[in-house]
Amino acid sequence: MRGKRRRGVPEPQYRELDFSMLKMSLPHTVVKRGVEFTVQQTSGSNAEEGKSWICPVCVISIEPGMMHTVAWDTHRGVQTRRHFHNHCFKIFDGLLP
Ligand SMILES: [Zn+2]
Repeated sequence: MRGKRRRGVPEPQYRELDFSMLKMSLPHTVVKRGVEFTVQQTSGSNAEEGKSWICPVCVISIEPGMMHTVAWDTHRGVQTRRHFHNHCFKIFDGLLP
């Protein structure tokens, strides 16, 4: 036994997982005023080029690549999906315009 350790063994599977986790977090549920929302965090880096979103709370656009919150009414479905700034979703009262 010389105590020699193996080194330089890459784990590409791990790297791939980390990379996709950065783009989109797992969805979770948030209830606001009795309305259930499905919420995800996204970096926006998987958006089509040049695409940006208008946050319904502050009506300021969210730039591509900016970490933000995507939320939709769980019962009405993903067509109600909106993009929010993270801090705006915290103060969002649950009423979609
Ligand atoms: Zn906002």
